[in-house]
Amino acid sequence: MSLLVVGSVAYDALESPYGKVARTLGGAATYFSVAASFFTPVNLVAVVGDDFHPADEKIFGPRSIDIEGLERATGKCFFWAGRYSANLNERVTITTELNVFADFKPRLPEKYRNSRYVFLANIAPDLQRDVLQQVKGTPKLAAMDTMNYWIERTNPELRETLKHVDILMINDSETRELSNEHNLLRAAKLIFKMGPSTLVVKRGEYGALLIDKHGVFCVPAFPLEEPHDPTGAGDSFAGGFMGYIAGAKSTSDAALRRAMVYGSVLGSFTVERFGLERLLKLKKAEIHARARHFAKLTQFKL
Ligand code: AMP
Repeated sequence: MSLLVVGSVAYDALESPYGKVARTLGGAATYFSVAASFFTPVNLVAVVGDDFHPADEKIFGPRSIDIEGLERATGKCFFWAGRYSANLNERVTITTELNVFADFKPRLPEKYRNSRYVFLANIAPDLQRDVLQQVKGTPKLAAMDTMNYWIERTNPELRETLKHVDILMINDSETRELSNEHNLLRAAKLIFKMGPSTLVVKRGEYGALLIDKHGVFCVPAFPLEEPHDPTGAGDSFAGGFMGYIAGAKSTSDAALRRAMVYGSVLGSFTVERFGLERLLKLKKAEIHARARHFAKLTQFKL
């Protein structure tokens, strides 16, 4: 069951109290597809410029990430620069350069059009919708992410895209900004009116919440002594979540709960090192070992 993703493939400049990287491969769709590929094949839709390094392209093939949908255009790759505060919980965006994404008109390769699981990773909401509309029929599950950049600049377009997805997966500050409501449970009710029937709220070191008609399910973040760089943690969470669902071919309540754990597991590995470094070295056995650790972390008797 293929999983389709559209989102940024980018170069990032990162700064945290643990160090600095001037230019490294990043982008929401990059983190997402690497994380999801541990569970299922992934079809990637994005655009890169002529500065895209051949060595960076090599990370996809060996991981069953299909890049027929990765278009090459004249110009520069998406570029993002961000800086994290001392506690790693807050970040400021220093630069966002859309570059080749500014004029990107995706055309889905024929073989991608039957995808049953779709993730609209962080990118312009019009572009997200364009990709979703090219998928044949109604996918079994369509989920999306977004961020303050799009909530503030393209709100009407974002509202339109929201009407067409089942799950919205965003962080706590984005939830509050989108809904204009501080309380996350009340915010979920407002977001359900916009389209999605499920809200996943990523809360950094405080874990994540899944809110739907059954109620609320919580997973913790994996307690780490030395997190280095949270970049991509949210996209890796989404990759673990959607990858698990597509691999298991189930959207049952039990599967969604396990997907939350795998999301948290993948996010936790990403923050251990800068950029994609840890994800690219990750082994399947380490994922399952950490998932078992999560079971221990949260088990108790009454
Ligand atoms: P995360 O830390 O999971 O929120 O995602 C970080 C990644 O998102 C970075 O690798 C950036 O390249 C990418 N990114 C940052 N801003 C945007 C944006 N406005 N649209 C799409 N991708 C972005």
